[in-house]
Amino acid sequence: FDRMKIDRVELYHVAMPLIYPWKTAYGEDEAIHAVLCRLSSGSVDAWGESAPFAAPCYSPEWAGGAFAVSRDWLAPALIGQSLDSGQELQDRLAVYKGNPFAKAAFDTAWWSLQSRITNIPLHRLLGATRDQVVVGADFGVMDSVDDLLASVAEAIEAGFPRVKLKFRPGWDLPMLRRVRETFPDGVFHIDCNSGYTLADQKLFEQVDELGLAMIEQPLQHDDLLDHARLQQEIETPICLDETIVSVHRTRQAIQLGACGWVNVKPGRVGGLTNALAIHDVCRDAGIPCWVGGMLESATGAAACVALAMLDNFTYPADIFPSARFYHEDLSDPPLSLVPDERGHPCAVAYQALPDPVPERLQRLALQQATFA
Ligand code: MG
Repeated sequence: FDRMKIDRVELYHVAMPLIYPWKTAYGEDEAIHAVLCRLSSGSVDAWGESAPFAAPCYSPEWAGGAFAVSRDWLAPALIGQSLDSGQELQDRLAVYKGNPFAKAAFDTAWWSLQSRITNIPLHRLLGATRDQVVVGADFGVMDSVDDLLASVAEAIEAGFPRVKLKFRPGWDLPMLRRVRETFPDGVFHIDCNSGYTLADQKLFEQVDELGLAMIEQPLQHDDLLDHARLQQEIETPICLDETIVSVHRTRQAIQLGACGWVNVKPGRVGGLTNALAIHDVCRDAGIPCWVGGMLESATGAAACVALAMLDNFTYPADIFPSARFYHEDLSDPPLSLVPDERGHPCAVAYQALPDPVPERLQRLALQQATFA
């Protein structure tokens, strides 16, 4: 690649109102808080996005903090620098510990900028050979199990190849048993969002009998050892999500036998550079992966789509069309579902990362900063 000098950085902290609140084991969000980063090199610019949410409940990061660390430390470290690769960007930011969501906005913008400068589609730059990927259906905590059963029926009718259910105390085994009774042949998995501890082993032994594809992040958000212990007691593969924040942590998880699957979110791991490296580490260890999103706008979602086209992402992705959560996406064009190989509208196709619409960006921005 030609050397890419970063001439200008723009940062925005936005709050994007959802159509209805997103309820999980860690809380309820009425708007998705994200950091948008625009990098310019010469006459070309591109955007990246990272959506750690409003509060530090999914992970230790939150959008206000990610914006602050980006403004005070990360942007000053990159402005005026020439960056040959995503790895060089990561290396320049490595002195600042952690903060993967904050770093992801810059890293994703770097890849999109590289794609625009070289005129190579982002998924090809990442090494993907596919042009579309299948996505699954996801359901948060709902008002009643009957409501959930109706929604799952619709999803299965629409052809979604698997269904993910949020799982938290008060919305766990009885809910899951009714789903399994109603849909004995469906492919399901649960996402616990670190809502349980090893003291709940009996609960997971009962879950183990329900033939799930995987159990996502049952235990503490930064845990490895307890997951390895639980995995020894149950057959259902554990999928790590929150725990996987870096390439290093992924290697440790695999060595400890803490998981049979890895959910890769570009935001949570510091961007596409690290997501790609984690994909490769898992592939080499025989651990399959899938891509998850953070309810980003179409800018961040398109980065997830491009990543999900890599070969070792074998389980349907958590990537949602804009219309599922937003009356109006921040960016244009929005992300839409397209027909999969069987003709069901359960896939997403490659699209270059769209720019935010300037008027919407100004309206939704809570803070902004510019470096030149
Ligand atoms: Mg998850």
